[in-house]
Amino acid sequence: MLKLQGIAVSAGVTIGEALVLDSEGFRIPRRFVARSAVDTELERLAHAVADTTREIERDRDAIKSELGGQYAAIFDAHLAMLHDPKLQAELTAAVRDRNWWPEYAVSRTLRRYAKVFQSLDNHISHRAHDIYDIEKSLLRNLLGQRRETLAAISQPVIVLAHNLTPSETANLDRRFVQGFATELGGPGSHTAIVAEGLEIPAVVGVGPFLSDVSGGEPVILDGNQGLVILQPDEETIARYRLEVEAAHSAQAKLEGLRDLPAETTDGVSIQIMGNIEFPSEVEQCISRGCDGIGLYRTEFLYLTSRREPTEEDHFAAYSEVVKALPDKPVVIRTVDLGADKMLTETTPEEERNPCLGLRSIRLSLRQLPMFRTQLRAILRASALGDVRVMFPLISTITELRQARMVLADVMEDLAEHGIPFNRSMPVGIMVETPAAAVMLDAFVKEVDFVSVGTNDLIQYTLAVDRGNKEVADLYNACDPAVLRLLRHSLDVAREAGVPASVCGQMSGSVMYTQLLLGLGLRQLSVPASAIPEVKQVCRSVSVAECRRIAERVLAMDGAREVKAFLRDQVRRLLSEQTA
Ligand code: PEP
Ligand code: MG
Repeated sequence: MLKLQGIAVSAGVTIGEALVLDSEGFRIPRRFVARSAVDTELERLAHAVADTTREIERDRDAIKSELGGQYAAIFDAHLAMLHDPKLQAELTAAVRDRNWWPEYAVSRTLRRYAKVFQSLDNHISHRAHDIYDIEKSLLRNLLGQRRETLAAISQPVIVLAHNLTPSETANLDRRFVQGFATELGGPGSHTAIVAEGLEIPAVVGVGPFLSDVSGGEPVILDGNQGLVILQPDEETIARYRLEVEAAHSAQAKLEGLRDLPAETTDGVSIQIMGNIEFPSEVEQCISRGCDGIGLYRTEFLYLTSRREPTEEDHFAAYSEVVKALPDKPVVIRTVDLGADKMLTETTPEEERNPCLGLRSIRLSLRQLPMFRTQLRAILRASALGDVRVMFPLISTITELRQARMVLADVMEDLAEHGIPFNRSMPVGIMVETPAAAVMLDAFVKEVDFVSVGTNDLIQYTLAVDRGNKEVADLYNACDPAVLRLLRHSLDVAREAGVPASVCGQMSGSVMYTQLLLGLGLRQLSVPASAIPEVKQVCRSVSVAECRRIAERVLAMDGAREVKAFLRDQVRRLLSEQTA
């Protein structure tokens, strides 16, 4: 059994079969060949070995003529490994005697060889990479056109991958993908956010582990503790089965909260809105009793389609959401593309610092036709219900004014053509940069509402990439610098009489609910899965007590102290409830 620690980004526990996607995206399921097909499969293996041999020889000859014979020795070593009689005999036996699929035989056998090299801890341990290279080229030749993609998953699996982009994650088939774990990735990445939206457990930033597992092997994914357990023993499987059952019954209990108000014990009403990436998620929010949609991340419309969405595509998506919630607010955020949500067509050149580059509102203001198309669709949807528009990543007042000018211009266009829309559609901004927080007194004079995006606010305040596992320990909502900016933003909005919410992941974690209420927050926007728990905490606390908690926290000067205190508070609260 091998227990690996990663970063927990989407809660829940699941037990299932591994589907391994290495850095080249190969899927190697454990498959068996029929006895009658063994000879054909062995022939396929022999072809792949011959093709791989030819490729290595071709590379060797090219290098030889460019750089000379001494460099060609590397390739001769590869050839010797590939044709090692012991390896060849093992591969043949795996197919002939164990009836393994050749792809699976190659992956299992070569990875075992590589691990032996890796464990040597001396100057030849790096030869493991050579073995992985041989494995890859054999698999490439074996799989050829049959290389399957993530989109073709057709049975329940736990995806174990080197990395998953937000769009790959968004395209995962929820019917079959029980959860995923990746070697790369940080706590605030959009891959993590999509996992929460899909309501599947996810663990990222595990570090290298794919060489320790093969497709088809049993895996336990613990999205609560951030654990990936490979080759689990019977006792561990049994323990986790109990945990899965307990989670189901806890979930069922929380369902009873659906129609109860989120009101504190001293009578203060809290609005709990939902965060969505796709129209289909609205149902999940409604079934948990949401008070509206506080953040609709519309960029996923781009990330799940091969072509740029048309005005009709936008309109269809927005109307679906608005019609599902006829009497409740729906905050549509204009696209936040860029950084880890890339669209090749709209990123003119490679950026060295994409998080600080042409992202979000900056990109929209550069790509006016795209921006106008989206605004037209949002305005058209505003005729159907309580639609509000929100601009992301605003950092200067000029950006807000420019965005509003484009909006006004699009309104004129629609009016000229007699297309209905709500001329007083509320306009808001996200507070995601320290600049916006510090200058909020100016912004609130020109907006109808604000929403604090703590995911980015943490990233930009602490100068920590939210998607990088190497600095994940520095990415912390408990940091006093973040909390002071948050308090300042909420104070400024309240004094100006402008409604404020928090829609970053922080608001969906019950560890922060008391603090947020104590800071004066009365509207939270959270992933659908978090609505019941957050509501339960709201219903169990008094604002007076929350204020005391906030005061204590704001007097602390270190993230560690804040975290320990908040953990303790919420633990105490939850244990009182179960007592
Ligand atoms: C945020 O930054 O907190 C936010 C809600 O936006 P996103 O996570 O989509 O960047
Ligand atoms: Mg953001």
